Amino acid sequence: MMSSREAFERLRAGNGRFVSVVLDPAAILDAEQRARLAAGQEPFAIVLGCSDSRVPAELVFDQGFGGLFVIRVAGNVVAPSQVGSVEFAAARFGMPLVVVLGHSQCGAILATLEELRQPAPDQSPNLRSIVGRIRPSVQPLLKTDLAGKPDALVGAAVRANIRASAAHLRTGSEILERLVAAEKLAVIGAEYSLETGVVDFFDGVPEAW
Ligand SMILES: [Zn+2]
Repeated sequence: MMSSREAFERLRAGNGRFVSVVLDPAAILDAEQRARLAAGQEPFAIVLGCSDSRVPAELVFDQGFGGLFVIRVAGNVVAPSQVGSVEFAAARFGMPLVVVLGHSQCGAILATLEELRQPAPDQSPNLRSIVGRIRPSVQPLLKTDLAGKPDALVGAAVRANIRASAAHLRTGSEILERLVAAEKLAVIGAEYSLETGVVDFFDGVPEAW
């Protein structure tokens, strides 16, 4: 069984390869690997990422088939079905790591900021359920100096939302809370830069790593 730190190092190294465009040829599946994977999977990390077309988790971490258990939802928000997916994956496969992967210029964050400035009366209730999950971590920022600095505000809002999602996974589920307390699972928040391709693991990384 891989440790949380080993899984983390594997993701960090994969992102390094992605950024320097020195990719792992083993990430492409051949017939033999496909047959092996059909018999069973042993993914080593869970990624809860945004649906944005510019942030495909497997590519960003230079991982092939069978490596990552990926959940993608606009704004990388945590609703019950996301918690359930993480619980399933962590319990079923014994995966030691969850990464909440947000990104710069996230459309869901921009939409939430827009909604806070100028509420749209005709917003669909489904869309509102996403904005509603982002709003609590973003709203307080509007009462700070950031309110007058649009770019910095978006950046801070992206990070606040990632932190909130990671915190929710650490404490919003008995199963996950138990795994975290037993140090069998680490939940880390990270931001992908659309501009540079670099993933910055900024939340929840133990100091010793
Ligand atoms: Zn996004």
